[in-house]
Amino acid sequence: MSEVVPVPALCILGATGSIGASTLDVAQRLGLPVYAVTAHRRVAELAACAVRAGARLAVIGDPALWPELRRALAGSGVAAAAGPQALCEAATAPEVGAVVAAIVGAAGLAPTIAAARAGKRLCIANKEPLVMAGPLVLAAARAGGAQIVPVDSEHSAIFQCLEGHRVEEVAELILTASGGPFRTVRDLSAVTVEQALVHPTWSMGPKITIDSATLMNKSLEVIEAQVLFGVPAERVRVLIHPQSIVHSMVAFRDGSVLAQLGLPDMRTPIQYALTWPRHRPGPVPAPDFARLGALTFEEPDRRRFPSLDLAYEAARRGGLAPAVLNAANEVAVAAFLAGRVRFLDIFAIVERALRELDDVAEPSLEDILAADAATRARYA
Ligand code: NDP
Repeated sequence: MSEVVPVPALCILGATGSIGASTLDVAQRLGLPVYAVTAHRRVAELAACAVRAGARLAVIGDPALWPELRRALAGSGVAAAAGPQALCEAATAPEVGAVVAAIVGAAGLAPTIAAARAGKRLCIANKEPLVMAGPLVLAAARAGGAQIVPVDSEHSAIFQCLEGHRVEEVAELILTASGGPFRTVRDLSAVTVEQALVHPTWSMGPKITIDSATLMNKSLEVIEAQVLFGVPAERVRVLIHPQSIVHSMVAFRDGSVLAQLGLPDMRTPIQYALTWPRHRPGPVPAPDFARLGALTFEEPDRRRFPSLDLAYEAARRGGLAPAVLNAANEVAVAAFLAGRVRFLDIFAIVERALRELDDVAEPSLEDILAADAATRARYA
């Protein structure tokens, strides 16, 4: 019996990035129509991917680049728009059924909330908005009737392991981490940008690759898990698993553990977010366990990677702490990539921003945006 699967037109926010490219590949294989694609400044890449995907609309985040985008799309039949408001309009267009949120960083917050309020299926890779304003994203999704389906491989794994279960049954969520390029490097004081940009198992954009090297990516994911699954951060455990085959696990109260496994290829969780609740044929084969050999697990080294303790502290404090942690990390990573600070300064900048934070309980969106801007201005 053939099954009728709904085909929602997609809006891909951050289509020119690493997740964006994998999403375009998955959409093409599944035959999903793409309504809109967006980018920040890379006009030529955006125009090319809009034409390739058969999109109706392309949006460039930087408004100054609108004329250039219009020229690049002349005669293609793809409409051009620009600016932050246009990103939100693309994510809420009536033609769009599902939004893949794949902008990097806090810049994705407004279109993510807009998509949630508009009741779209929100396939979310962009973890920073969940970290900085998780309760507000969830409230927008509740108000709009949006389904949030995680794309981050760890959260996709947990989402799958939790299907059919209640959160009260959960003893612990176990997030696995590859450990990044410096898992076995004792002295991190002199590591270079080039070394930090080489990830052992995943191929990703530059910001998340640096976050993986500092374990800040896993730290943000602890907060992301608390938000998405309603399990407090102290029951979200991080384990280093260098093979990146077990994408995460759920330990239940009766001692049984469910895990989701697969090869490290983001097309698998992206496809699942788009086809949920069904697993459909895809481009990535299952792991061949006989050839894989050992799967190993170890505790993370919290002394060398203080990002984990900083994230647990921010999760426990709540309020503006997660937003400040995120903003300080974003500016610190940008400064490291630009050669302005050293690797270990990233931890010091985030630690100082949290220490100096003047907090507000249950912050509004305005409070969060103000704290984000103030942190960027102060620690950049
Ligand atoms: P990339 O850097 O590869 O791509 C980022 C995308 O966002 C690009 O399309 C970029 O446009 C766009 N963008 C950047 N800044 C802005 C802005 N200010 N306004 C609007 N658009 C903007 O990132 P990744 O694909 O690696 O990551 C995207 C998100 O997904 C991140 O939050 C990351 O943590 C998360 N994630 C990524 C994974 C991966 O495998 N890469 C895995 C799990 C989660 P332009 O090209 O014009 O700069």
